[in-house]
Amino acid sequence: MGHLGRFSGKIIRSIGFRLTLFLVIGLALYLVMAALSIQALVQQTDGLKELSGLHYERALTAAELSRDAEVIAAQTFESILSTNRSVSQEGAIDQDLMELYHYVRKQLTATNEEEQGYLDEIDLWQKPFFASLEKLAQRMEEERLLMGQEQALLNQLQSAAQERPPGTAPLKAQLISQQVISTLLIALKSERNGQLHRLQRSAESSLEQLVDYPKQLAKLQPLVSRTFELRRPVILSHRATLASARKSRLYSQRLTTSGYNYFQSLKKTAHHAAKAYEASAQQAVIVVGVFSIVFLSSILAMVIFIRRQLVERLNHLSDVMSAHVAGSPRKIPTNGDDEISVIGQAFEVFVDARNTAEQRLNQAQEETEQANQQLRKLNRQLLVLSETDPLTEVANRRYFDQKLQDYWQMCMNLEQPLALIMCDIDHFKTYNDRFGHQAGDLCLKKVASALDKTVHRLSDTLLGRYGGEEFILLQANTSQEQIYELAETMRQAVAKMQLKHPDSEQGIITLSLGIAVLLPDGKNSVDQLIRIADDMLYKAKDQGRNCTLQTVPSEDIKLRPSD
Ligand code: GH3
Ligand code: MG
Ligand code: MG
Repeated sequence: MGHLGRFSGKIIRSIGFRLTLFLVIGLALYLVMAALSIQALVQQTDGLKELSGLHYERALTAAELSRDAEVIAAQTFESILSTNRSVSQEGAIDQDLMELYHYVRKQLTATNEEEQGYLDEIDLWQKPFFASLEKLAQRMEEERLLMGQEQALLNQLQSAAQERPPGTAPLKAQLISQQVISTLLIALKSERNGQLHRLQRSAESSLEQLVDYPKQLAKLQPLVSRTFELRRPVILSHRATLASARKSRLYSQRLTTSGYNYFQSLKKTAHHAAKAYEASAQQAVIVVGVFSIVFLSSILAMVIFIRRQLVERLNHLSDVMSAHVAGSPRKIPTNGDDEISVIGQAFEVFVDARNTAEQRLNQAQEETEQANQQLRKLNRQLLVLSETDPLTEVANRRYFDQKLQDYWQMCMNLEQPLALIMCDIDHFKTYNDRFGHQAGDLCLKKVASALDKTVHRLSDTLLGRYGGEEFILLQANTSQEQIYELAETMRQAVAKMQLKHPDSEQGIITLSLGIAVLLPDGKNSVDQLIRIADDMLYKAKDQGRNCTLQTVPSEDIKLRPSD
């Protein structure tokens, strides 16, 4: 768990992780920003949709206004044509429809000068339109009244035509009367003033023929004048009505055209708004898209750059440095001239310097080691030289004296007896005299070698040259018998070599030996040991040489088994 914690802590502290974290945060911020932009765009879209919806609503309202105007005109005509209507009770125009028309008109507003122009035009034409409708209604009413009077007259004419002439009216008068009534019936249908005029003259000339029939004349005279009095205003009224109707129709057309134009301009505005929205939305989408691509590309490029140029190179450099520290050198990256390359170059300089120092140190250590070895060798040689007798190569007197003290102390500690044999070549002076000093030296070497071969296998033994032609041997923990035996073996080993010495009793080189054995106890001493051995040697010489002598075995000396 602790290991895992340290590991994750290391990751969190690494540059790569932190850079990645920053990039992720940047990306997240971008996504939030992009989401907000898109939301704003969507809101804008909704607003524009609403706006264009408004335009269409206004266009519909304009269409409704146009339709209302038409409905009003149609209702008015319908109302005018209806026979059950009374002008005095209610107007020719439906007031509810008028209110609806004005309400719809109030809904219409202009958003630009063009629209305002068309609205002004609507307002310009609506007033004369409604006035012309009123006028038309009045004309129609007037015409209707005249028509009623005309109908009454027509009824009178028809009844006059069917009436039997009173008394016995002559046939001529009857025919003229019928002709006058026919003329009047035609006049009531006439639409032209000229024809009416001609008909009046014809009727009047016919009346003149009835001078002789006053009864008939009195009956027809008022009918003739009434017919032509009534028919002229009827024709005038009829024409005036037609003129009013044309005027109404003209104003209606103008108003409808104005409404239609306003509707068209609204449609155009809405279309323009939709186009503008579409263009701006497309532009916004393109801008967001391009910006996103540029932003994401730059983020990607930055990530690649940071990974390649920083993180990977730093990791590599770090690995190489760790490898160098661990003792397995790898090639240090030094290419380039940026900060990381400079670190690599500096590290290379440092590594080179360290390697050079290490090489020098190793060399110095090697040289020191060689010198030390040489010194140790020389020391050993020196020691050997200082302890060895150069001629005979056995221990010299100085070393022997020194060891004698050690042996003495050791035997005292271990309570073991210490034996000492003193050897001396017999008649050596005469040997030298006969064969020369060099031959004497050679003889000394051979004797020393023979003695060494005899004792070199023994332990706790030391053979040395005591001086001149004298040798001495130390042996720890040995008995009188054993040491005597050893001394005899030594004597015999020399004799066995048969080194010719014509001036001695035996004719060969021989040895005389004296033995001393003491148990060191603090009361006796090394000097005593040497003196005893020397005494015994002296006695051996005295007794004829080529022999071994020792003191009578002491009761005190007891041999202890060596461990
Ligand atoms: P003895 O049997 O009584 O011991 O008679 P010796 O002649 O051996 O004794 P002495 O003490 O009279 O003579 C010892 C001789 O040893 C004297 C000397 O010339 C000889 N000598 C001592 N040291 C050396 C040496 O290093 N080389 C040679 N060649 N001779 C030596
Ligand atoms: Mg001697
Ligand atoms: Mg001698």
